[in-house]
Amino acid sequence: MTINTNLTPNIVLANPRGFCAGVDRAIIIVEQALEKFGAPIYVRHEVVHNKFVVDELRAKGAIFIEELDEIPTGSTVIFSAHGVSKAVRAEADARGLTAYDATCPLVTKVHIEVEKMRKAGMEIIMIGHKGHPEVEGTMGQVEAGQADEAEDTSLAMYLVETPEDVAHLQVKNADKLAYVTQTTLSMDDATAVINALKAKFPNIHAPKSDDICYATQNRQDAVKIMAKDCDLVIIVGSPNSSNSNRLREVAENQGVEAYMVDNASYLKPEWLVSKKKVGVSAGASAPEVLVQEVIAKLQKLGADHVQELHGVVESVVFQLPKNLTSAAKRSL
Ligand code: SF4
Repeated sequence: MTINTNLTPNIVLANPRGFCAGVDRAIIIVEQALEKFGAPIYVRHEVVHNKFVVDELRAKGAIFIEELDEIPTGSTVIFSAHGVSKAVRAEADARGLTAYDATCPLVTKVHIEVEKMRKAGMEIIMIGHKGHPEVEGTMGQVEAGQADEAEDTSLAMYLVETPEDVAHLQVKNADKLAYVTQTTLSMDDATAVINALKAKFPNIHAPKSDDICYATQNRQDAVKIMAKDCDLVIIVGSPNSSNSNRLREVAENQGVEAYMVDNASYLKPEWLVSKKKVGVSAGASAPEVLVQEVIAKLQKLGADHVQELHGVVESVVFQLPKNLTSAAKRSL
């Protein structure tokens, strides 16, 4: 159906958008494991938060599980890009599972920071979303019983999401306190929480470099620039994708009507009524094929010219885990 509107909206495409280096690497790890060892390959949690990607890997023989006790002893398991707690790694070892780690290296960087802060005797505050697997994995770097000898297991790790959480937070020693953040937060929201932390705990120790990853920052910056010129923004991403949700919020915070769609079938013709410019972007876990399908559907609904915006050119590539590449070589 072509929408009946006096205006023919143009489409603008944000850049960069879609897959980041961590998502690329995680998908390749599952594909290589399937190729080298054959199906089934178990994957703990959705390897990346995108339904299309997960369905494709499932069709190739990946089995997605939430807990390791769902896997037969001796199987091969892949940890998702979001990372896992120390307890999950220990459980995989104890059950004799062969584990390959698709944790994004930028999430691993935060895990290492947490370990260092803890070894320095600090209590740690994590800024992140409760229940998100990355938060569970990062908080799980300091679980009781998993600490090594150098660590003080009485040191707590706290989770805050908002400045209000900071207002209610009580710590044991405000002078030995540090914070880290989830990698996919809204930069503006994170800044508000960090400012609240610094105001309440002036001696709080910041991470060495920004924990919000390059891909999250670049995609949010690109949507901010694009949204200024649009009256509708469509973000391609699955509902459980944190960074996709943040992109929709970034557009909304610019005062623009914004929706997130898993694929083109979710587009509603009425969204285009009286619109002049439709901005399109995609979260870091959403493949470009879905973006192209959304554009095709928007054109079917009456949108016209497609303009690709210029943006930061990303050249980040992460290496595959050594134990997978050496296993791959052995099986040749
Ligand atoms: S969004 Fe950032 S942290 Fe997450 S997988 Fe991509 S690069 Fe890694």
